[in-house]
Amino acid sequence: MESSISQIKKDYLDKISRAKTLKELDDIFLALFGKNGEITLLPKEFSKLTPSEKQKIGPLFNAVKTELESAIEKRREEIREVGYAELTGEGLDLQPVEVKPRKGHLHPITQFEKEIIDLFDKLGFQQFDAPHVDTDEYNFELLNIPAEHPARDLWDTLYIDSKNSGIQPGKLLLRTHTSNAQIRAMRDIKTPLRMMSLGRCFRYEAVDARHNHTFEQFEIVYVDKRVSMTNLQYLSETFLKAIFGPEIKTRLRPKYFPFVEPGAGVEGECVFCKGKGCRICGGVGWLELAGAGMIHPTVLQNGGINPSEYSGIAWGFGPERLIMLKYGIADLREFLSGDLKFLEKF
Ligand SMILES: [Zn+2]
Repeated sequence: MESSISQIKKDYLDKISRAKTLKELDDIFLALFGKNGEITLLPKEFSKLTPSEKQKIGPLFNAVKTELESAIEKRREEIREVGYAELTGEGLDLQPVEVKPRKGHLHPITQFEKEIIDLFDKLGFQQFDAPHVDTDEYNFELLNIPAEHPARDLWDTLYIDSKNSGIQPGKLLLRTHTSNAQIRAMRDIKTPLRMMSLGRCFRYEAVDARHNHTFEQFEIVYVDKRVSMTNLQYLSETFLKAIFGPEIKTRLRPKYFPFVEPGAGVEGECVFCKGKGCRICGGVGWLELAGAGMIHPTVLQNGGINPSEYSGIAWGFGPERLIMLKYGIADLREFLSGDLKFLEKF
């Protein structure tokens, strides 16, 4: 009896493992557990056994019965899975798959700014932040641009309702330039001063391909004894060569900015026509890339620095404009669009 049970177990486990279809499994199930199935009929012979044999055979029979049932069920699942995989046209790969997380990247402006920060960091400039929401005093007044000064027409300022702030109406605003860091840096760091400030600025602009209400600025302030326009030319060249390559030529042209005296436009030879003159540079062969100048003595004084002992330069540009020139981007609005088709190019 014991050996016939073991034989049934051995034979049928083998058949089950070789079954390829659900139909074959159904037949095996019937052969074992059907009305005349081998397992079904076995207990009929138990009456012939002695009590001590019954005690031994009973548990063995139950164990084999359960084992065969679960072997059939398990094989059924396997056949179903293979069938499903064939239906969907995919093989069943049970190997563990390494799921790689989707990786993004930094925004093109952030990438560019990191590059600039690294460059000026090497030249000994430290980063200095100033608030986006600021007072008229830091943004204009202390930078030699008093309330009635015509220079204020250069900025279309976004003013903030200051009702609950305790600040006089019309004196709280969104900074129009990163220069609101200048006075703070002079007062905090003192001399010699080498600071860079960058980030968002805001103006009440009509939005088009070249203007936006929200944009980036980068500027440096360098104050020490005997700082002159020569330093300005050197920094302009170092910077533009690092961004556009060593062959770019640079020049300074006189230009008016209220907080510098004298002021200069920093121009680079047109990267599109190499100085020959084209549509983008308006036929001149040069592009204005940054604004700069010697810091006005009044501004130094407002920052607590003695202008008869120290002199300084301020130098800044709009990162978006340089990225547009570097990569030939036509529309400034792309930067804030969040459009993946644009962002994935970088
Ligand atoms: Zn050109």
